[in-house]
Amino acid sequence: MPEVERHSFDVLVIGAGGAGLRAAIEAREHGMRTAVLCKSLFGKAHTVMAEGGIAAAMGNVNSNDSWQVHFRDTMRGGKFLNNWRMAELHAKEAPDRVWELETYGALFDRTKDGRISQRNFGGHEYPRLAHVGDRTGLELIRSLQQKVVSLQQEDFAATGDYESRLKVFQEFTVTDLVQDDGAVAGAFGYWRESGRFVLFEAPAVVLATGGIGKSFKVTSNSWEYTGDGHALALRAGASLINMEFIQFHPTGMVWPPSVKGILVTESVRGDGGVLRNSDGKRFMFDYIPEVFKDKYADNPEEADRWYTDPDNNRRPPELLPRDEVARAINSEVKAGRGTEHGGVFLDVSTRLPAEEITRRLPSMHHQFKELADVDITAQPMEVGPTCHYVMGGVQVDPDTGASSVPGLFAAGEVSGGMHGSNRLGGNSLSDLLVFGRRAGEGAANYVLGLADRPVCSEDAVAEAQRVAVEPFSREGGENPYTLHMELQQVMNDLVGIIRRADEMEQALKRLDDLKRRAETLSVEGHRQFNPGWHLALDLRNMLLVSECVARAALLRTESRGGHTRDDYPGMDSSWRRKLLVCKVSEGSVSVEEEPQIPIRSDLLALFEHSELQKYLTAEELEG
Ligand code: FAD
Repeated sequence: MPEVERHSFDVLVIGAGGAGLRAAIEAREHGMRTAVLCKSLFGKAHTVMAEGGIAAAMGNVNSNDSWQVHFRDTMRGGKFLNNWRMAELHAKEAPDRVWELETYGALFDRTKDGRISQRNFGGHEYPRLAHVGDRTGLELIRSLQQKVVSLQQEDFAATGDYESRLKVFQEFTVTDLVQDDGAVAGAFGYWRESGRFVLFEAPAVVLATGGIGKSFKVTSNSWEYTGDGHALALRAGASLINMEFIQFHPTGMVWPPSVKGILVTESVRGDGGVLRNSDGKRFMFDYIPEVFKDKYADNPEEADRWYTDPDNNRRPPELLPRDEVARAINSEVKAGRGTEHGGVFLDVSTRLPAEEITRRLPSMHHQFKELADVDITAQPMEVGPTCHYVMGGVQVDPDTGASSVPGLFAAGEVSGGMHGSNRLGGNSLSDLLVFGRRAGEGAANYVLGLADRPVCSEDAVAEAQRVAVEPFSREGGENPYTLHMELQQVMNDLVGIIRRADEMEQALKRLDDLKRRAETLSVEGHRQFNPGWHLALDLRNMLLVSECVARAALLRTESRGGHTRDDYPGMDSSWRRKLLVCKVSEGSVSVEEEPQIPIRSDLLALFEHSELQKYLTAEELEG
């Protein structure tokens, strides 16, 4: 077996997006020797791509905003399936996390009187998204990295070594967690460049690996979102919840084909952009669901007045939660009212002066000009749904981020519960900071409480190596690129935005077949920068996670948030009380129902009884 490089830390954070960096900062500040491992270059995480902003009820633009209103919006957006404790912590702590970011060096756009500016977004009752133009994620990552550097400078002053307490390992992929009698003992993986293997020994691991979008053909996600953290957790014995809920963002680019799926930020609609079909009709007024009728304008005049007088008018239906808008676009296209390239029109050019568009939406202006030769200050964009975010993830304790596996924690997109069946825009960036901090603290406290350190056995390390090199030992087997393409097509066509039992059953058969074929995957060459090998290892994760999505989606016989069943079009309040929990035992996925913990009464009291009637069962309402 090849030689294995070894390192030892107190806390390992896998992922250097917002959740990972915030967790690492917290663990280090609790005195832990902390390592951050990331598959891509340091700074190139999904978080850096975030455009619109970070949601926090600071009340800077509308003083009626408060954590209670943010909590209510989040629960409504998730159709009451959210882990209410997470939604509560998130709404209460998000403003502090945004302020804290400014102490790390972030500089958000300002209001005229110098406060952090906040913009409108779908499903948020008040302007709530703190932003830096449409490049908010870049500022978030930049300032978290700056904080890492400042901590490293402190460490240099104390120890003479910048990396003595906080060290980043970039372009490093974790393939397996190593356990000792069930508890986390470390993580095993390879340097992407050299292919050399490394063992990181540590009693606590925080998963912060982001999403799973690369299992779908049309997606806003980039190459590294292959569900690694979800799969690592499953294989270690933790459970995933809410995997049936996938967010299809309503507005991805549809043309040219090479850029299909790339995100068109919701800020375009937040800043006044409207959706029209090929007949020129502003169609969203036809798609306001019953549960939202009292909150959204049913005519263009009122919708337009809302931008200047939000207190006396209802919001435009373009700002309905993402699942509603994505389904509406899908229906228009299916009904033959789509654009030439299978999308609808999103127009901001007739709503704002050109200079205002380039000031507020510089990235969108640049993106369309460069990639599609469209000038959004003068022409409408063509947009359609794209797989964007997974609501499902590792089942964690809301306060500490701990999973059911001792020593294993999760935060950010890889964790589940916070967003229920559908995430509101802007609520991810705040989630990363609130729960990243909590998971870092949870991991530190866990390590401090340990009497003995778990040990990585040589057998476990040898097994991780064996699995990693297996694709080299076969000749003439399946090609990883072919398998990946087929997987993406299956998930897109059969477990996509609109689902049916017969199609999902077909998907499960196809996934089973792909899984069998994956056992014969073979790669050529050697371990030095070998993307075919990298993909072969990633496919193991994508197939496992895709099966969880398909199995859970087949079982949930209702439509809710990011799970739309053609054969069960309505929301069923008895299903709101159930979570679908995915586990893996001896390589097989099982999905079981688990009761949802009833919402605490003081939080329930924040809603009108008439609204609760739309979501809760009669039995719950009486209780
Ligand atoms: P990520 O930022 O996705 O980072 C994951 C990290 O894990 C990376 O460093 C990756 O290299 C690493 N990793 C993965 N697997 C491994 C492995 N096996 N080994 C080692 N490292 C690994 N949300 C908002 O709230 N507001 C917005 O405006 C917004 N805009 C968005 C725009 C776009 C285009 C996209 C795609 C998403 C947007 N989102 C937005 C969603 C949000 O950006 C993500 O949900 C969030 O950034 C995820 O952060 P994370 O820290 O969980 O993971």
